[in-house]
Amino acid sequence: MSTLVITDLHADVLTEDGPKQILKGVNLTINPGEIHAIMGPNGSGKSTLAYAIAGHPKYEITTGSVTLDGVELTELSVDERAKAGLYLAMQYPVEVPGVSVSNFLRTAKTALDGEAPKLRHWVKDVEKALEGMQLDKSFASRSVNEGFSGGEKKRHEIAQLELLNPKAAILDETDSGLDIDALRVVSDGVNRFAEKGDRAMVLITHYTRILRYIDPTFVHVFVDGHIVESGGRELADKLEANGYEEYTKAAAAAA
Ligand code: ADP
Ligand code: MG
Ligand code: MG
Repeated sequence: MSTLVITDLHADVLTEDGPKQILKGVNLTINPGEIHAIMGPNGSGKSTLAYAIAGHPKYEITTGSVTLDGVELTELSVDERAKAGLYLAMQYPVEVPGVSVSNFLRTAKTALDGEAPKLRHWVKDVEKALEGMQLDKSFASRSVNEGFSGGEKKRHEIAQLELLNPKAAILDETDSGLDIDALRVVSDGVNRFAEKGDRAMVLITHYTRILRYIDPTFVHVFVDGHIVESGGRELADKLEANGYEEYTKAAAAAA
């Protein structure tokens, strides 16, 4: 059972001009089996939230805590956070030239489990995960993210979910740049992962369209570094109809 608890999280982005406060007190509890959609305008700090939780070196948590099954993540290295069961799918995934998808995934799996997966089973597991994302077998021998289309990157991210089987997953703009077919394949993969029932999932998105295929337990509106409203999927429908203006105006008035 996997519970992710974010408490009063404040974080800065470290810029050339010094630290700049972006997260201003984020509170969120994700219980096992829940999918939480975080929606907000560009620049509101959604990616910062993901990076801060994952331990990206350009972001500094100033106060607050993030726990996964009671383990404080903010005191751990990036690798240790992954080992504790956290997975972050990035808005801008990095290229790893010369490292094949297959080797990349095997190294990640070995780091997580503390031992290398048996090669025979592993090859089959990778093939199955790729097939689930409608990626060709040959994809396993390509260099990670090198020349991948937007859709291939996202499919690869979700194949990783299946293979690495983390306790908690944060997916940042998994829907951006996908055509309708890719959006379906990716959404189906996310749903398969969620159906395991004991995983905590955060889905960060700018658009409501992915929520036509993925049913969120809760929807949160994220503006100016924190959550300003929470609700069910009806909140996403309201955002689709009205946009974020009501919230950004209120945030500007309060500033
Ligand atoms: P979102 O994902 O919601 O679009 P981000 O977390 O990417 O928002 O960005 C939040 C804010 O932090 C924005 O105002 C952005 O300009 C600022 N920011 C992010 N990274 C940097 C950086 N490296 N240098 C300066 N400002 C940054
Ligand atoms: Mg952005
Ligand atoms: Mg972002």
